[in-house]
Amino acid sequence: MPQTQTTPAPGAPVALIPVLQDNYVMVWHDGRRAVVVDPAVAGPVIHWLEQHGLELEAVLQTHHHSDHIGGTPGLLRRWPQAAVVAAGADRERIPLQTVAVGDGDRLTLLGQELTVMAVPGHTRHHLAFHVPGIDALFCGDTLFAGGCGRLFEGTAEQMHHSLQRLAALPAATQVWCAHEYTEANLRWAAAQRPADGAIAARLAEVRRLRFTGQPTIPSTVALERTTNLFVQAPDGASLALLRESKNHWSG
Ligand code: ZN
Ligand code: FE
Repeated sequence: MPQTQTTPAPGAPVALIPVLQDNYVMVWHDGRRAVVVDPAVAGPVIHWLEQHGLELEAVLQTHHHSDHIGGTPGLLRRWPQAAVVAAGADRERIPLQTVAVGDGDRLTLLGQELTVMAVPGHTRHHLAFHVPGIDALFCGDTLFAGGCGRLFEGTAEQMHHSLQRLAALPAATQVWCAHEYTEANLRWAAAQRPADGAIAARLAEVRRLRFTGQPTIPSTVALERTTNLFVQAPDGASLALLRESKNHWSG
């Protein structure tokens, strides 16, 4: 059985399937039906759903990169009726989408209301999906635990705005990002702010989790507000400097 973690959220838990080098595929399910977020690959996801007796209802795509959509064709071969929810503005790069969405759209999945948020920066049409009923945020490569995505297509100002929107969600919201980058992010943050006790404490906890082979995901909005330097950046210019620093950091 693949290494997985299931949060004990009653009614609609979320599980993580680690794939490739450091990707996570998220499975949100109600015990019968499943919604899969950013399937990098299909095989381990099909295996996990079949093992847990789940039928795929929908795939959520945060953005077009192959390590987020690469498994979708395989999932559709196994569950042809599943919906594929993605940015309508990115139809050319996410061609298998069947439900085109944009900022502010609301959908009901597994009996829960989901809100779509446009969060450009990493890519120009990157989306995040907020499900208030299960306190979950699926944010792809925009907000990471202790970090943020690289600015491939957007500006630092856009990323700043996107992170501020996500950080304004309720403090208890669980942050399900798509990569296990947390330890490197916090080692970098601790090097920038050596006197910051909250960052040091989080780094120690993250190291303990990684040393014992456990994921550091989900994070929470509260934890990101107190320990994520990109979330704390006062403006786009400050975020740009942090991003440059992190890009070139090899500590
Ligand atoms: Zn990406
Ligand atoms: Fe990615």
